[in-house]
Amino acid sequence: MSDILRVLWTVVPRIAPQPWLNCKRCRDIRLFRSSEKFRVNANGKRLDAWLIYKCTSCDSTWNRPILERRHVRTIDPLFLMSLRANDPELARRLAFDAENLRRKVGLVEKSDDVGVRKEVLSESMTPPRWLEILCAVPKMTGLRVDRLLAIGLHLSRSRIRNLQDTGNLAVSPEGSRMLRTAARDGMRVTIDLSEAYDRDRIAMAARSSD
Ligand SMILES: [Zn+2]
Repeated sequence: MSDILRVLWTVVPRIAPQPWLNCKRCRDIRLFRSSEKFRVNANGKRLDAWLIYKCTSCDSTWNRPILERRHVRTIDPLFLMSLRANDPELARRLAFDAENLRRKVGLVEKSDDVGVRKEVLSESMTPPRWLEILCAVPKMTGLRVDRLLAIGLHLSRSRIRNLQDTGNLAVSPEGSRMLRTAARDGMRVTIDLSEAYDRDRIAMAARSSD
């Protein structure tokens, strides 16, 4: 088929996963966010390092263990240098490691505040009848598939559900509840635009980054 518009969407989360922790000052459970700063403490040849989180209500801190009692010779010097320099790239990478965070605190909130970077993979000369969206989700987010499509296509979530109910939208790998689950890396969404009154507008939204 030549009347397909194929696009690649890369989902870029704006907010790193946030742990729910007991805040001593608030005396309640609060969300904490990464400050993107590290604390490094050397004790003889042993070293501890933490990523500092702050309570979103009162700025009290919580130190997330990154290195615990590690012998300095077993630490990659570049890694150590980045820790000491508060390298924002490293802080961001560690902050987005939700699995590791969950092992340390239990309950973690994943934000669905994302940006979507869009690229056209191939397109037809004629107005497209089909839209195929390949989704790259390098970092796990709490973003649901229907919300991703609503954001990316500038449509309401009910319209997205309606497209699926009428058989004009399919998600693979298959699953009828797929629209309610978190968007996954490698997911493919196919939409039949032939009966959509606003197909040109949808195709335009699918290809142009916000
Ligand atoms: Zn607090």
